[in-house]
Amino acid sequence: MVDLVIRGRRVLTAEGIRPAAVHVDGERIVRVAGHDVVPSGARLVEAGDTVVMPGLVDTHVHMNDPGRADWEGFGHATRAAAAGGVTTVVDMPLNSLPPTTTVAALLAKRAAAAGRCHVDVGFWGGVVPGNLAALPALADAGVLGCKAFLADSGVEEFPPVELPELEAAMAALAARDVPTLVHAEAPGPLAAAAAEVERAGADPRRYRTWLDSRPDLAEVEAVTAVAELAGRTGARAHVVHLSSAEALGPLRRARRDGVRVSAETCPHYLSLAAEDVADGATVHKCAPPIRAAANRERLWAALGDGSVATVASDHSPCPPDRKRLDDGDFLAAWGGISSLQLALPVVWTEASARGRTLAELAGWMAAAPARLVGLAGRKGAIAAGRDADLVLFDPDAVFRVEAGGLQHRHPVTPYAGRMLRGVVLATWLRGRKVYDGGRFAERPLGMLLRREEAA
Ligand SMILES: [Zn+2]
Repeated sequence: MVDLVIRGRRVLTAEGIRPAAVHVDGERIVRVAGHDVVPSGARLVEAGDTVVMPGLVDTHVHMNDPGRADWEGFGHATRAAAAGGVTTVVDMPLNSLPPTTTVAALLAKRAAAAGRCHVDVGFWGGVVPGNLAALPALADAGVLGCKAFLADSGVEEFPPVELPELEAAMAALAARDVPTLVHAEAPGPLAAAAAEVERAGADPRRYRTWLDSRPDLAEVEAVTAVAELAGRTGARAHVVHLSSAEALGPLRRARRDGVRVSAETCPHYLSLAAEDVADGATVHKCAPPIRAAANRERLWAALGDGSVATVASDHSPCPPDRKRLDDGDFLAAWGGISSLQLALPVVWTEASARGRTLAELAGWMAAAPARLVGLAGRKGAIAAGRDADLVLFDPDAVFRVEAGGLQHRHPVTPYAGRMLRGVVLATWLRGRKVYDGGRFAERPLGMLLRREEAA
């Protein structure tokens, strides 16, 4: 039985973009048929020349809920996701209160999210000092993996771990076959750099000051250590938000040696450059920082050769006053960039300018992240058996980012005013339309994903 057919001349399938008719039965795709194959009785959506692509999977989103819902919240974040063509988001374990470092905290998180999500939502757990015993239980309770920090996380209730604790956590999570995510900046080089910035009396309004305080070496050292621990424990390690191209060397060497270590980078590292950040423009502050244009091009090369497999937003909003937009103090401002709704057009604008294809983009932003979280059987591709998570995308339309058009609770973004390429026209979640040209489904239709559903 087929109740919905979405067909067009540019359907992004596993075999590339081609004319096709996507047959949907209930929540699932049952067949990717020839363009003219339309069973009688099925509702037909004609995409024409608009691209039909798989819903994106964003594995790095801070929804800050419960506890700091005034920073974002499940409702705002998932509406932004639906409007941005993202049908699966995975919530980070920190910035909510409590952080997701125990099973009780995971249950609180699920209770806060229930009935409020416009797209499907999964959860990362957290590794902090002293919660080693909770990690297997968190995995069994459904988290898709666990994240640790090697340096200060920005919130005191989520402290960093030292390498021996990280190794023990990796071994525990490897036994459950879930990935360990690491914020890979080593504390030693960060402390040395901060001391130097202070000694020099550097102006905190200058972007250069922020950049100098987060040196490449911190990422190089941390990625090297994470890869070594992954090799020793056999764990699957994933480096979140890789910014420094200098860290690609140790990453590539480890992967050549068969170590299971992957990495993601983010839309801001792929689109922005330190040379263009004005002094005082703290809307650009994130950690690790946006680096030079030449570094950005090396990240693009790493996406091309597969050393970096995924692109995730690292959407990390806060109330506007915490961005210190008034005094432009880079050292005091909250580090985090909001881009969940804009990640697709930001990356497509840059990718298309470099001759990269939409099929490649779908690999970085749908298929690879779905594999990372163990959901590749359901999410991340247009193929028989997958969830009918589909996006109508006009890759040629150009628009100007207006803060008022953003669903984020606080529409503070470095992309305001920029011209971007690619417009999301409509989004289906498991066969039901959740976004259509600025309108949303009346009821939030997202479900909460658990690890056991990944099998
Ligand atoms: Zn983050």
